[in-house]
Amino acid sequence: MTRRFQAAVLRSYEDPFTVEEVALCTEPGPGEILVEIAGAGMCRTDLAVRRSAGRSPLPSVLGHEGAGVVVATGGDPGNGLGVGDHAVLSFDSCGHCRNCRAASPAYCDSFASLNLFGGREEEPPRLTDAAGKALAPRWFGQSSFAAYALVPARNAVRVDPALPLELLGPLGCGFLTGAGAVLNTFAAGPGDTLVV
Ligand SMILES: [Zn+2]
Ligand SMILES: [Zn+2]
Repeated sequence: MTRRFQAAVLRSYEDPFTVEEVALCTEPGPGEILVEIAGAGMCRTDLAVRRSAGRSPLPSVLGHEGAGVVVATGGDPGNGLGVGDHAVLSFDSCGHCRNCRAASPAYCDSFASLNLFGGREEEPPRLTDAAGKALAPRWFGQSSFAAYALVPARNAVRVDPALPLELLGPLGCGFLTGAGAVLNTFAAGPGDTLVV
């Protein structure tokens, strides 16, 4: 089934994003989920694509801290997520390198290639523009500047449905990075003071 929806497409390193119709010509495969996006943050990493010296392929749908509702799964996605769950989306990782096996997926050996410089190879392309021209494989495992995102379930975390879903996307990058610096690198604890 082909799903058509709106997305913000970046077509050149100089031009602004254009909101246009795109087509997703696949259902979720094993280990993947389809998420109807409720909101996404705009992070400096989305803007840094313009300074990537051409290594981030275009045209592309960016967006790497999205949040939304799971609307389809490719069988059992393997991390307890199911249709109707609210989820926050974060970066992609391979799941089998030394650092992924040591529970440090942020240091995945394939982090740069999976997230920044091309994504997982797709042949034939799964996301195209309205004319059928390929868009770059998903950015940071999600491409969430769009009404729907096809995501490896290992990038997604279920969240409390009582929370305002449209505001939770930055938990997937901005807050995650800041909290990691404070809690892990600074090892700040209760009662400590710090300047942000
Ligand atoms: Zn970010
Ligand atoms: Zn890995």
